[in-house]
Amino acid sequence: TAERDATPPCCLANTGGEDALVGNVNKLTVSPPGYTGPLRKGHLIFDACFESGNLGRVDYIGDFEFDLFIRPDTCNPRFRVWFNFTVENVRETQRVIFNVVNFSKTKSLYRDGMSPVVKSTTRPKWQRLPPKNVYYYRCPDHRRNYVMSFAFCFDREDDVYQFAYCYPYTYTRLQHYLASLERRNLPYLQREQLGLSVVSPRMKNDTSMWTNENVRSEKEKKLVFLTARVHPGESPASFVCQGVIDFLVSHHPVAQILRDHVIFKIVPMLNPDGVYLGNYRCSLMGFDLNRHWQDPSPWAHPTLHAVKQLIVQMNQDPSVSLEFYIDIHSHSTMLNGFMYGNVFEEEERVQRQAVFPRLLCQNAPDFSFSNTSFNRDKVKAGTGRRFLGGLLDDTSYCYTLEVSFYGYMTSVGTAAVPYSEEIYMKLGRNVARTFLDYYKLNNLTKDNRPTNIHW
Ligand SMILES: [Zn+2]
Repeated sequence: TAERDATPPCCLANTGGEDALVGNVNKLTVSPPGYTGPLRKGHLIFDACFESGNLGRVDYIGDFEFDLFIRPDTCNPRFRVWFNFTVENVRETQRVIFNVVNFSKTKSLYRDGMSPVVKSTTRPKWQRLPPKNVYYYRCPDHRRNYVMSFAFCFDREDDVYQFAYCYPYTYTRLQHYLASLERRNLPYLQREQLGLSVVSPRMKNDTSMWTNENVRSEKEKKLVFLTARVHPGESPASFVCQGVIDFLVSHHPVAQILRDHVIFKIVPMLNPDGVYLGNYRCSLMGFDLNRHWQDPSPWAHPTLHAVKQLIVQMNQDPSVSLEFYIDIHSHSTMLNGFMYGNVFEEEERVQRQAVFPRLLCQNAPDFSFSNTSFNRDKVKAGTGRRFLGGLLDDTSYCYTLEVSFYGYMTSVGTAAVPYSEEIYMKLGRNVARTFLDYYKLNNLTKDNRPTNIHW
């Protein structure tokens, strides 16, 4: 599959041993200790040396039980959440228990029914494991760390099985998607390379932007700026972002009106290196880019630096009105889609800021206005939402859009519905069409073409 095409730089891979946490396991065979005979079926072979892969170490506990260690983010051992690895050489009907023992977080949606995703060679569509096979608990054997254990029964000897924290969305997958958009030769669609990331020049992990410039000549061009995947492990953000783009390039009448009146600039992967490497939170150099908006450096945070420069420049352009900045993330402890916004002194601005999330709540059954909150925590001062909220004028709105890694509840007391890749994308389509509701409500577009077509 595309996810397995590319191999990370060899300095980041090793085959286990003392410093195994430095890199990913590379076709690591785990046979019983002291065993020296030929490789047998059931001696599992673990691998994470592929794009967005992450597994740092495997300990043999017994024939049926293995401790798995997440590889920490490159240059930043504090973050250990995302995992994505393959297992092969299985025996038919082999039952195993995998314990993921070194999460850096304690609170988790595993308690609410979240489970890892799995696919295999003959069943290539990702599925969530049954939650009844997943246990999350404080473990006395692991320094009272929180451990997530899951039971799994292999059933086909020739299959390669792949397990991940959530549905992967790799850099290569994005490139295929953007290339398919380019092949459509849409007259309003342009792709611009904003800059290259830090990873070796050979790989050229670029940060691309999708944009439609040819809006009707109005005295000020309305502009919406979206970014996603500043946090590389938050793969649901990519499905939401793709949903936004899919809608905007569609024949839907709402999309046509939006294209005529609003410029959308979309950076679908703000941290391509981190995504490529299988990090959860940081860039190659170990920076949480969403804490560096105040002063990004062109060499240490090149993608962020390029995006910020562009936004600052647009903000100074009198022919452009930058109205929305939305940064798409994914949340590891909350359910539903929801937003974070900024706090303002003037009540009227506070009210205006609540309009977009309220409208989105009407359009998207999985989006929760009651989970949406507005804050000015000190620790979040370096985020895009907070920094741009302070920079842009009072007619612009800056939000973080969060979507749960697990699921959503449509009303209190009901069971959570687990998100699929498709439902994440649908949230993106709903975000896109909400912009027209916003502009109609504010009488900012007089375009009265009919739009009430069921989507
Ligand atoms: Zn995030």
